[in-house]
Amino acid sequence: MERLQKVIAHAGVASRRKAEELIKQGKVTVNGKVVTELGLKVSSKDYIEVNGIKIEQEEPVYFLLYKPRGVISAVSDDKNRKTVLDFFPEINKRIYPVGRLDYDTSGLLLLTNDGGFANLLTHPKYEIDKTYIAKVKGIPSREDLKKLQKGVRLADGLTRPAKVKFLSGDRKKNSAIIEITIHEGRNRQVRRMFEQIGYPVMKLKRESFAFLTLHGLTAGEYRPLTPHEVKQLI
Ligand code: URA
Repeated sequence: MERLQKVIAHAGVASRRKAEELIKQGKVTVNGKVVTELGLKVSSKDYIEVNGIKIEQEEPVYFLLYKPRGVISAVSDDKNRKTVLDFFPEINKRIYPVGRLDYDTSGLLLLTNDGGFANLLTHPKYEIDKTYIAKVKGIPSREDLKKLQKGVRLADGLTRPAKVKFLSGDRKKNSAIIEITIHEGRNRQVRRMFEQIGYPVMKLKRESFAFLTLHGLTAGEYRPLTPHEVKQLI
């Protein structure tokens, strides 16, 4: 469910502000009834008209992309860098990423045109597990990793406890591979957590999101989610 003005704006009929004006002016109907209230929530099944013309709501679509490094998680970029949308040339729907991965982070990213789905999955209340594999500089001790498990204090507050697994260490290269699972989604969170305990991240990949994994995909490839997967997520 989405707010009426947002649905009108998404359909490309008017800006969000203009949509609000149209609603207040009584120019919008939902299932045949004039609506002047701004907060009304509607779904893709509602029949909406603006000035007597039907709004075409896009059929919702859901994709799982294996984002490569060096790509931004946005629909456009003022510096003309590659964006995640460049991997969907044949999709003519207004899809956008569910949350973000840093430019230098690779891995699992969902994209959709369903705002309700995106809001739900990025809301901290839903506590969706996201698992990352981090290559860090230095070899953290068990005590160091315990700090991550307990929660570390970052500039924007204490992190919730993380699940952490030491996968391997390379004394010659002075680096280690660590698996970490968090369910918050703060900006650059995993990088900042490791930085805080003194082991900067050199490489980061998101391996899974809830029960979804990158299985069967190589970097730059995507697949649609199955209806069953969508249902399981929401
Ligand atoms: N944490 C990070 O630091 N970067 C990401 O891209 C995702 C989580």
